[in-house]
Amino acid sequence: MSRKSVPDDIEKQVLLLCRRRCCICFGLDGDLSVKSGQIAHLDHDNTNNDQDNVAFLCLTHHDQYDSTTSQSKGLRKSEVWHFRSELHARIANDIASAAAGAATPKPDVAVIFKESPLFTTERKVRLSNQVNAFYRYLTDIGFDLPKDAPPLGVSAGVSFGSVTPGTVYDASMFIPGDGIDNLDNVTNAYSLFLFSYLLQRVDLVPAAKTLIMRSVWIFANYYRASFVNKHSVDPKSSAAKLETALWDIRRIYGKDFVDRAMFFTFKRWRPPMPTEVDFDTFFTVRFLIGEAVIDNMGQHDDPIRSLLKERGLLQAS
Ligand SMILES: [Zn+2]
Repeated sequence: MSRKSVPDDIEKQVLLLCRRRCCICFGLDGDLSVKSGQIAHLDHDNTNNDQDNVAFLCLTHHDQYDSTTSQSKGLRKSEVWHFRSELHARIANDIASAAAGAATPKPDVAVIFKESPLFTTERKVRLSNQVNAFYRYLTDIGFDLPKDAPPLGVSAGVSFGSVTPGTVYDASMFIPGDGIDNLDNVTNAYSLFLFSYLLQRVDLVPAAKTLIMRSVWIFANYYRASFVNKHSVDPKSSAAKLETALWDIRRIYGKDFVDRAMFFTFKRWRPPMPTEVDFDTFFTVRFLIGEAVIDNMGQHDDPIRSLLKERGLLQAS
């Protein structure tokens, strides 16, 4: 059956009421995410554009619903109609409470936005929520983080800058204008700032500055990836070997284990030792010091050392 398009004003009304959420996804799975979809006619009559008869459905559910015959166990019109009412009520309620400022918990971190037309009210809320979610993730692990975040600006790419020693206001975070809605960018910038801020407060030996900056990268990138459970290593990065090894250890012993092992790597940070010949050794030695804190009876110590030696990250002793 061809799907005749519904009049523009009806379509607009339907899309506004559901905010492109599919009422079957919501009714069956509680799924409130934005979907690609179409306007469906609930009585399967394409000419009946009565508001009560039309609903926005995701492509999968639209196909499923339209292929339903009266004999099958498919969804009934009354069910979908009910889901649709519930969805509209929920959306209206969310919008009302967002307007009342009650939709999101009071943020722990106040993000300062630099002047830019790209920072719309809606984007500011989403970016601030992301910073706060990452803040809570790290504080739950145990990190003691500053309550302020450096001002966030728009630039060509992800970057951060800071004056050391300094306050968070002596630092800046930047995300790319064309990637402003990719929330991973703000996590990346904030994570780089945080670990730079934290590590420079425990280790400021001038001779170790390069080692510290490379360690900042390892911490920032590890937690940014672990936060969303999705690792990506740039194979050209000089840290690729080490990052891949950490992620493989995480795969074997779990997110919680390596999240905490990395935390104690930070807590038990040691100034550079004269025997360390390269960065990989410098960092892996510290990782083993951190891992030992939570490794019961050192049961993971040997296999982890073997893995690190195999990857050429630790000198055979
Ligand atoms: Zn759906």
